[in-house]
Amino acid sequence: MKIVVLPGDGIGPETMAVTIDVLQAASQRFQLDLQFDHDVAGHESLRQHGATVTAALLEKVKAADGLMLGPMATYDFKDEAKGEINPSKFFRKELDLYANIRPARTYPGLAHKVAGFDLVVVRENTEGFYADRNIASGSSEMLITPDVVVSLRRITRHCCERIARSAFELAMTRKKHVSIVHKANVLKIGDGMFIETCHAVAREFPQVKVDDFIVDAMMAHVVRAPQRFDVIVTTNMFGDILSDLTAELSGSLGLGGSLNAGRDHAMGQAAHGSAPDIAGQDIANPFSLILSAAQLLGWHGQRRNLPAFLDAEKAIEAVAAAAIGAGEATRDVGGRLGTAATGKAFVQRLLAA
Ligand code: NAD
Repeated sequence: MKIVVLPGDGIGPETMAVTIDVLQAASQRFQLDLQFDHDVAGHESLRQHGATVTAALLEKVKAADGLMLGPMATYDFKDEAKGEINPSKFFRKELDLYANIRPARTYPGLAHKVAGFDLVVVRENTEGFYADRNIASGSSEMLITPDVVVSLRRITRHCCERIARSAFELAMTRKKHVSIVHKANVLKIGDGMFIETCHAVAREFPQVKVDDFIVDAMMAHVVRAPQRFDVIVTTNMFGDILSDLTAELSGSLGLGGSLNAGRDHAMGQAAHGSAPDIAGQDIANPFSLILSAAQLLGWHGQRRNLPAFLDAEKAIEAVAAAAIGAGEATRDVGGRLGTAATGKAFVQRLLAA
């Protein structure tokens, strides 16, 4: 498996270095023959190439089997004409990575303020309220007068259908329960179509229990009783917000793994941002990126029918749980180690298991 590696901004280089060590260890133990092609995106690419991402990089990624993208300082990138393209949007749009799969679970040994849970947010990734990706060219957020802004949201039956199918297929491998999250009480047409399409797909999966929740009430439900949920399917913006909440409820935003998957390509990418407030201090939690890398291995294994990759995914998840329980983790999850030492301990556990 050939993986393009883009460390990203802020804490990206620290957490990506640890993640690649873990992937190398997984490759050794499970004989995955992983090959890494290191390149740059974000601020480093802007310095070197005058743009945060380039056409040549896209071609390289298209030819590879997967992409590991570090967190990006997206808020800094304001003017595409100056090469300041949001790399996250760029790859999601250009590679049509329509499903953002964000698992969240509690861990024994890590204090959490809610009941124990294990769920996955399945977020539509290519349209919705995201002004930089929901139209073919330009931005769908417009300054009409200096005091008036219009932002458009795009919802299509095609995108609703494929994200619903991803959710139901995933639910079949888990507890067979899908919760549809929407705001159809206000966005009656767009979210109305989202619910209707999800229910139409549900008819192909009669074994799966289905319910639906309005997004604002859902925030209360996941805080009050997250153990009720298994797979949660929702539109782009709601999924982005809800999945940060579920990651934090699991113990830390630094635990939120995230895979962006399409038909032909996939990108592992931590759920969190570039965390400039803690960059370069050796305190960033690498688990989010490590767990995202594990998801990427699982995606490849499933697609190519390679059980060793699925075994590697499970082993990395198990080591993460054991390491957190043993305090071999960063301070934000009650651990006693820095970023680099967390990585070393992780590799030792993975190779010893
Ligand atoms: P953030 O997710 O970077 O940080 C939010 C808070 O969580 C901060 O206090 C940070 O220190 C902490 N945190 C985040 N990741 C952590 C980790 N691995 N370990 C320990 N603590 C962690 O959000 P922000 O500060 O609002 O955004 C910073 C930059 O990241 C902005 O430019 C934003 O646009 C960008 N961003 C990028 C992505 C992405 O690349 N997928 C996602 C969200 C935000």
